[in-house]
Amino acid sequence: MRPIQATIDRSALNHNLSVVKATAKPSKVMAVVKANGYGHGLLNAAKGLAAADAFAVLGLDEALALRNAGYQQEILLLEGVFSADELLVVSNQNISIVVHCDAQIEMLENTHIESISVYLKMNTGMNRLGFKPEVFESTLSRLAQCKQVKDITLMTHFATADEAQGISVPFALFNRVIEDKSYPKSVANSASILRFSETHLDWVRPGIMLYGATPIAGQSAASFGLRAAMTFTSQIIATQALEIGESIGYGGRFTADKKMRIGIVACGYADGYPRHAPNGTPIAVDGLMTQTLGRVSMDMLFVDLSELPDATIGSSVELWGNQVPVDAVAESAGTIGYELLCAVAPRVPMKVVG
Ligand SMILES: *Cc1c(COP(=O)(O)O)cnc(C)c1O
Repeated sequence: MRPIQATIDRSALNHNLSVVKATAKPSKVMAVVKANGYGHGLLNAAKGLAAADAFAVLGLDEALALRNAGYQQEILLLEGVFSADELLVVSNQNISIVVHCDAQIEMLENTHIESISVYLKMNTGMNRLGFKPEVFESTLSRLAQCKQVKDITLMTHFATADEAQGISVPFALFNRVIEDKSYPKSVANSASILRFSETHLDWVRPGIMLYGATPIAGQSAASFGLRAAMTFTSQIIATQALEIGESIGYGGRFTADKKMRIGIVACGYADGYPRHAPNGTPIAVDGLMTQTLGRVSMDMLFVDLSELPDATIGSSVELWGNQVPVDAVAESAGTIGYELLCAVAPRVPMKVVG
């Protein structure tokens, strides 16, 4: 067996959920488990986050997987239904749906299926999904008249909660329109939960922070008291001694300017490690920090063992996890922790602990 593995720590998920609860009290917590639980496995994530008040996913298949596993909480489909024929299952299984466009309102008006819970989404500047503030009020009254609709929550999603300009403009826009409305409200993702307590409202919708990665560039997950839920590990499967002037890997991207010792790790981009990771990306061998060198190949990558004389074939390697923050690897590779976690390949065996 190839020694690669992703270990999912359910106690870390549960801990991070407690951090959200403590931060956002008394708001209720809708744990976002889309994208296969941010790459942790939908049911692995749900089990660690079982104390959440609700779950959010994208597809009906994921919602049904949660129901079949016995979860009774509210489940929200973040993009709503994609066709009217999904409404029957939605109603039968007590699944809530986002409504973000007129076509979805028409599906509701034209169905005989009743008892549907709706999150009506405002577009406050992201210009992805949702109704513009100018038409929100009229859309809301149209929805409120729809006898198929059981209850309504008002929501928006911020484009810049993690950035310097923050949420003041979109949040003011949202508030101006819904101020006098007595419906429950939900606007905050992880960055907004951590940065703007005024956005907590009735429901918060954390994703990335539950998995122990940061939503805010330049501020570590650990600084928020979060713990890595995934530890991605493998082993050294070969070593090479380099003479001055010798290169490694495809394209010879790294050339030794001194005598060096290199380890070959059983992990490549086909496992989900970013091919764009440059020389110097942080990685740990036998619990000691070192760096990657050379180009990441499909099944293998190179680590610098020059300062680690005891490291050898069979030595353990942490690609990311408790010791090497996924955010540090992501920053080095020019991406965000979200993308790396979601991209762990199906061929990587997952083990659940905690
Ligand atoms: C993904 C998503 C979230 C969670 O975002 P994080 O940045 O991972 O906390 C919240 N709300 C909506 C609508 C989303 O699509």
